Amino acid sequence: MVEKSVFEMILNKEIESEIIYEDEEIFAINDINPVAPVHILIIPKKKVATMNDLTEEDELLVGKMVIVAKNLAKSRNIDESGYRLLWNTNKDAMQTVFHIHLHLIGGTMLKGI
Ligand code: 5GP
Repeated sequence: MVEKSVFEMILNKEIESEIIYEDEEIFAINDINPVAPVHILIIPKKKVATMNDLTEEDELLVGKMVIVAKNLAKSRNIDESGYRLLWNTNKDAMQTVFHIHLHLIGGTMLKGI
């Protein structure tokens, strides 16, 4: 059996974490270890391990994740001040959870990358 990701465990309520947004395909939580005042993870309910595993079938899903992110940015009043959307993939990007997720980071002046 394929091991469950921490995000699947959160979705299944096996791990405690407030779900701050949810629809049929996507949910969002606050990052447990925030790097900025706003640090939200937008996560597909469908487990896709890394960005490398996306297929054309996922086009709409990924697009919806971006729309959810920008709506959350507006709801947190950081749409005008600015924010960063980030996907980490594999070792060099320090991906730690192998279930894709979009980081929404903002609420402060971010360092350049
Ligand atoms: P990655 O480095 O894979 O792009 O990001 C994984 C993120 O998930 C990290 O920022 C980490 O803090 C967050 N994270 C890991 N475990 C948990 C958890 O149990 N709850 C929450 N809310 N976030 C988590």
